[in-house]
Amino acid sequence: MQDRSAQQIWETALGELELQVSRPNYRTWLANTRGLSYKDGQFIIGVPNTFVAEYLDKNQRSLIEKTLMGLTGRQLAAHFHVASGNPIPDYRFTPPGNRAAQSLSMFNPNYTFDSFVTGNNNRLAKEAALMVVENLGHIYNPLFIYGGTGLGKTHLLQAIGQAALARNIIGLYASAEQFTNEYVTAIRERSTESFRDKYRSADMLLVDDIQFIGGKEQTEEGFFHTFDELRNSNRQIVITSDCKPKSMPLLQERLRSRFEWGLIADIQPPDLETRLAILRAKAKTKNTDIHADVLEFIATRAKDNIRELEGSLNRVIAYSRLLRAPVTTELALHALGDIATNDSQKPAVNPVEILEAVANTFQLAVSDLKGRKRDKQTTLARHIAMYLIRSHTGCSLTETGRELGGRDTSTVIHGCAKIARDIDESPSLKRQITEIQQICLKRNPHK
Ligand code: ADP
Ligand code: MG
Repeated sequence: MQDRSAQQIWETALGELELQVSRPNYRTWLANTRGLSYKDGQFIIGVPNTFVAEYLDKNQRSLIEKTLMGLTGRQLAAHFHVASGNPIPDYRFTPPGNRAAQSLSMFNPNYTFDSFVTGNNNRLAKEAALMVVENLGHIYNPLFIYGGTGLGKTHLLQAIGQAALARNIIGLYASAEQFTNEYVTAIRERSTESFRDKYRSADMLLVDDIQFIGGKEQTEEGFFHTFDELRNSNRQIVITSDCKPKSMPLLQERLRSRFEWGLIADIQPPDLETRLAILRAKAKTKNTDIHADVLEFIATRAKDNIRELEGSLNRVIAYSRLLRAPVTTELALHALGDIATNDSQKPAVNPVEILEAVANTFQLAVSDLKGRKRDKQTTLARHIAMYLIRSHTGCSLTETGRELGGRDTSTVIHGCAKIARDIDESPSLKRQITEIQQICLKRNPHK
C-alpha cells in the first residue's frame, strides 16, 4: 500500500467520509482538502486554513484515522497542515506576486476540458464553453451555465479558466458567496477601492453559483457595476447557477436581463450511456480495472448526480480494499446497499407491508413469496420484494432473507442485483415497481 500516493488514498477516504458526515459538514470542512504525504504511519492532510485544521483536528480526527486505517490496513496518525494551492483558496490569504501562479492555484487541476465527459446532457454547455475560450469576450458574453447540483458546472467553469490560462489570459474565479463576503468586508472596512481594482482588473471573470446573490441587494449592486465595467471593455464573463435567470425570483431585473444578453446553456442529468462513460473515465484515472457489469450496476444506482456517481464508485473501490475482495456486482450491491438504507429521505416502510403489496400485485399469497415455488412469476415477485425491502426498510441482507422465508444472504444479493440491473432496461418492470412503492407509501403517508 505504501506505493499508492497519499492523494489517491485521501481521495478514496473522502469518498467514504462523504457518506458518513452530513453534506454541509463535508462541504465546509472536507471538500477542499488534499492528501499531502503518507510516511512512517503519519498521514498529512493539506487544508486551506488554520481554522479548518483546528476544527478537523478537534472534531473529526478519530473518524478520519479510522477511515484511513480501513483503507491502508495500517495504524496511522492524521495531521492537518495548512497548504497553499488548494482548489478554492481564500483570496485574502494569497500573497501578491505572480498573477498567473496565483490564478492557477484557484483551480482544481482535475477540472479540465480533457477530463470532462461529453454526453447529450451537457454537449451544448461544453461546446459553448470551448467557443468562449476561442473567442474570449467576443462571443456569448456572458456565458450563463445552469443546472442541478453535482452536474459539472464548477468543473466546466474551471476548465474555461484553465484553458484560458494556457493562453495567458488570467481569469478570476470566485464563488458568488466569496464575492459577497469580500464585497461586504470591503464596505465595512472602507476598502472598496481595492475590491474594485481586484475584480475590475481581471481579464475574465468566472463566478460560480450566482444564485447565492439573489436578494442580497448590496452585493447585487456591487456585481452589477463589476459586470458592466468588464463587459463594456469586452472582457469575458462566465456565470453558473442552479437555475436559469428567469427562475431566480429575488434577482434584480437589471441583472436578470444582463444574464440573458449572451448565451444561456443548461446541463441536464446524464443518461445511462453518459454515466457509464463517466464511470469508465473515473475508474481509469484511479488505475482500477472494473468489469463493465459492475460499472453498469453503479450507473443504474446513482442516476441524477455525478458527484454521487463518483461517490458510489469510490465507495465500491474502498469496500473492495477494505474486504480485500475483488470488485464484483455482488460486492457493489453490498457497498451501495447501505446508502439506500441510510438515506433519511426515504420513508420507512415495514417489510410485511412490502410483502403484502408485492403479493397483491402479482395475485399471489405472501406464503408463496416465502415458500419454495419457483415458477417465473413467483421468482420475479420474490426478487422485487427483496429489492424493495432492501431499499425501503432498514433490514440487513440477513433480515431480508429471513422475511422471505429464511433465504440466505447470497440469494438476496442475487435477487436485488438482478432487479437493479433489469429496472433500467424494462420500463414495464420499472412501472410495476413504482406502483408497488406507491401502494406502500400511501399506507404510510406521514413517514
Ligand atoms: P456542480 O458544480 O454542478 O454542482 P461539479 O462541477 O462540482 O458540479 O461536479 C461534481 C463532480 O462530478 C466533480 O467531481 C466533477 O469533476 C464531476 N463531473 C461532473 N460532470 C462531469 C463530466 N461531464 N465528466 C467528468 N466528470 C464530471
Ligand atoms: Mg459547483
